[in-house]
Amino acid sequence: MSLLEGLSHIVLTAKTFEEYDQCIKFYSSFGFQTVSQDANATSAEGLVNYLHLFGKSPVQNITLKIVLSPDATKKSPFPEEKDWRLEHALMNSVSANIAGVEEILKSLNFSFQKYTYPGSDLSNSSQDELIHTEIYAHDPLNNLIVFTNKLMPFSKTIYATSPKVTNSFNLTLPSLKSNKKRIGFLTSGGDAPGMNAAVRSIVRVAVSRGCEAYAIFEGYEGLVSGGDMIKKFGWADVRGYLAIGGTLIGTARCKSFRQRSGRLSAALNLVKNGIDALIVCGGDGTLTGADTLRQEWPGLIKELIDNGKLTTEEAAPHKNLNIVGIVGSIDNDMTSTDITIGAVTSLHRICEAVDCISSTAASHSRAFVIEVMGRHCGWLALMAAISTDADFVFIPERPPSENWESEMCRVIKKHRLLGKRKTIIIVAEGAIDLKLEPIKSSYIKDILAGIGLDTRVTTLGHIQRGGRPCAYDRNLATIQGVEAVNAILQATPETPSPMIGLRGNKITFQPLMEAVELTHQVEVAISKKDFRRATELRDPEFAEDYEAYVATTFVDNKDMLVPEYQRLRIGIIHIGAPAGGMNPATRTAVRFALNRGHTPVAIYNGFNGLLEENVNELSWIDVNGWSSKGGSELGTNRSEPDFDMGMVAYQMQKQRFDALLFIGGFEAYHSLIKLHKARDKYPAFCIPMICIPATISNNVPGTDFSLGADTSLNAIVDNCDALKQSASASRRRVFVVELHGGQSGYLTVLSGLAAGATSSYIPEEGISLKTLQSDVNHLRRRYKEDKKGNSSGRLILRNECVSDTYTTEVIANIFKTEGRGLYDSRTCILGHIQQGGAPSPVDRIRATRFAFKCLYFIEQHAFPTMSTEQTVRPRVYTNTKESAAVIGIEGEKVICKPVDDLLKDTDFKNRKSTKAWWIHLKGLVELLSKWGYSEKETETENLYEAIDKSMQ
Ligand code: ADP
Repeated sequence: MSLLEGLSHIVLTAKTFEEYDQCIKFYSSFGFQTVSQDANATSAEGLVNYLHLFGKSPVQNITLKIVLSPDATKKSPFPEEKDWRLEHALMNSVSANIAGVEEILKSLNFSFQKYTYPGSDLSNSSQDELIHTEIYAHDPLNNLIVFTNKLMPFSKTIYATSPKVTNSFNLTLPSLKSNKKRIGFLTSGGDAPGMNAAVRSIVRVAVSRGCEAYAIFEGYEGLVSGGDMIKKFGWADVRGYLAIGGTLIGTARCKSFRQRSGRLSAALNLVKNGIDALIVCGGDGTLTGADTLRQEWPGLIKELIDNGKLTTEEAAPHKNLNIVGIVGSIDNDMTSTDITIGAVTSLHRICEAVDCISSTAASHSRAFVIEVMGRHCGWLALMAAISTDADFVFIPERPPSENWESEMCRVIKKHRLLGKRKTIIIVAEGAIDLKLEPIKSSYIKDILAGIGLDTRVTTLGHIQRGGRPCAYDRNLATIQGVEAVNAILQATPETPSPMIGLRGNKITFQPLMEAVELTHQVEVAISKKDFRRATELRDPEFAEDYEAYVATTFVDNKDMLVPEYQRLRIGIIHIGAPAGGMNPATRTAVRFALNRGHTPVAIYNGFNGLLEENVNELSWIDVNGWSSKGGSELGTNRSEPDFDMGMVAYQMQKQRFDALLFIGGFEAYHSLIKLHKARDKYPAFCIPMICIPATISNNVPGTDFSLGADTSLNAIVDNCDALKQSASASRRRVFVVELHGGQSGYLTVLSGLAAGATSSYIPEEGISLKTLQSDVNHLRRRYKEDKKGNSSGRLILRNECVSDTYTTEVIANIFKTEGRGLYDSRTCILGHIQQGGAPSPVDRIRATRFAFKCLYFIEQHAFPTMSTEQTVRPRVYTNTKESAAVIGIEGEKVICKPVDDLLKDTDFKNRKSTKAWWIHLKGLVELLSKWGYSEKETETENLYEAIDKSMQ
């Protein structure tokens, strides 16, 4: 459609001064700005005007050179009555405000043609916003211009112009001079992996928004001492921060800040440095200190004036202090948020350690008592126990029963009898019994020795502080850093200081002191032996996770058994490509099913296996160790039931399946739909059927996260860190990295955020020559800014399906050639490495949650109307729409959604969900790699250079 698609500048030649002037006016009306004009021209002839459109996205950046020349030949006008879509356009202009374009054309008295097409939803937007509109108009030189609200001309999907996602960011940049706040930030209390990622995003977003960012070193110590401990940070100061554990700006426990005198010095230092807002990252102590400072602020300022340390003029701009808290704590001990920065990385280290210990324990048939951190919070211990198939766990919120010693020995003996060669006990450092007496690892060891087990104690200690942050913590901290700056910019003197949290995948804001107060109530509840309350105060999943752990770990708990006539034969099948979490989900389903009295049956190698009768009942010990196993122990492939539907039904009947549990990606979802649709024809499919989404692409409708996606992100980020290191060492090298994901850009965007990529190409947006040109310019700018001999490696992430034309190789070659010696490029195709090795703890936990709830779903739909007096086993028969569902995470809830209801959210052609809650994060990847922000001079300077060079 567009003649000049892909070019970053266009030359227009006007014959008369009038046309020249009209052209400038016309384009200025649509946001083009004059960046340069030849004011020295001696006569009107030869006049030149450069106009530039400064767009937010690369495709919206374009330069026009308008030249006045008597030799110009004007295009003849295209007939009004014809369809202007048949004409070649000079350019495509992307505009979110298409109605505004129409208004402007009307006010300029220009005729236009308008066409609308229905779009498809990607962001929960209303249908009105999904109309794709094109407006065709001619400029004063009769060139056809197309205005469209379709983000990318080649994209398959149309975005709503303003995505209504709850956690979208305002990425619009205010003018550089407005809103110039001085934002101070510090990290305090215990260090936590991800703190550096938060610092990086605070600095970069603050700078992008025209603010100044001040690092305060060593936590409150730096604030109290002032001087060199407070330093202005710029863009480059936080380079490389993402991948580093701990906190690079230091942390300390500061006694003096607990005293008013200490806080008085802190106030003085803040005012002297002109800092009017503070972001603190730490635990509840840090947040309490921050709130005290804010409450005392007016009094502190008055005192500083009274004792002559500050003049009234100096103090005048600092009547208020805005404070925002981000929680950095490996313990995940803050209530009011699902997760704190650092906790997931810490869990990674614990799981790695327990996985290692497990092999030696199994080799020697030993028992290990492993002590993990958590003085008042059992989150790390419980999640580690779930993730590593531990035999017993001790946490402060749920002390064990009175005679726990004999109960523990009974459980362990039973596990040993079933064939387990290792015993793992996880103890939180704050574990207590019902009398509130501490439960010590050494005591547990003595008890186990008493039943003849060779037992060792391992205290994991500071290893749990984490080191390199995992993908989850990097993204959590990055996003919370952005929101912290946004909160500062939006704060009024009356706004209470917020704590930034997370519920589901949504960012939350809560008055800081309310959150701290609730956290302290956990300790109070424990001290009052109100353990139910203590558990409730944790995140909403905590109590359920504990229940799931107990229900899937201990055997022979007769209380859990359902009556004999309600017992089911449950088929379990893996479909699609392997994904981390498939085995842990199967393990949980099998163990819980057995504890309820059901019979779990493995179907090996997908539907092919079913047809070959490759099925087997699974026992408790068959799934031993599967919590930490990657891939698919049952075997998986992409084949779906098609022509052989009758044979599938026959085998289902033959195997007497009462329910079917699918674990897999889009193929699993699609297979479930096919079986559900064939229920009229085949009664064998009239049983409860549920799908656990498991695919690294995260493209299954009905869930925000599928199993395997987190494992894959970590695998990608690990490799990207290595590539960045290699690229940095080689100096001035760009890696174009090709990633999996099918038609979904999830992995590309999320790993781009976690690895600090410069740009990411995703199928939802497509890719064009113009994008590449923009990226080349961007890379050239960045490499020019780098200090000599100190250049960082850069990454461009490309989804495998983004374009058939612009392959990874082609892109790398274009970058290399167009870099013109400033940098070179290499490709890297990560391939199947992206499936990861062992599943990540996040995937193990999600797998447990999903599988546990799936079993309840199956029971509920197998006998929805059965009376409790019934004793004869009826045949399972259900064909309700609710009995064929996908389990998923939606916001903060785990829910089962009927497949019938998900059809409208499914893009079958591209095999993915039409919802992409994560799409707005792409803008953040670009913002944090300096897209959209440039010192004005550099921008203009490079612009001229680019124009001049390309016109030579
Ligand atoms: P965390 O933030 O991880 O909970 P701490 O409890 O050690 O770690 O708190 C970190 C710092 O916050 C302390 O060293 C102290 O400077 C400050 N702080 C903690 N509690 C208070 C308080 N009640 N009043 C003032 N400052 C406090």
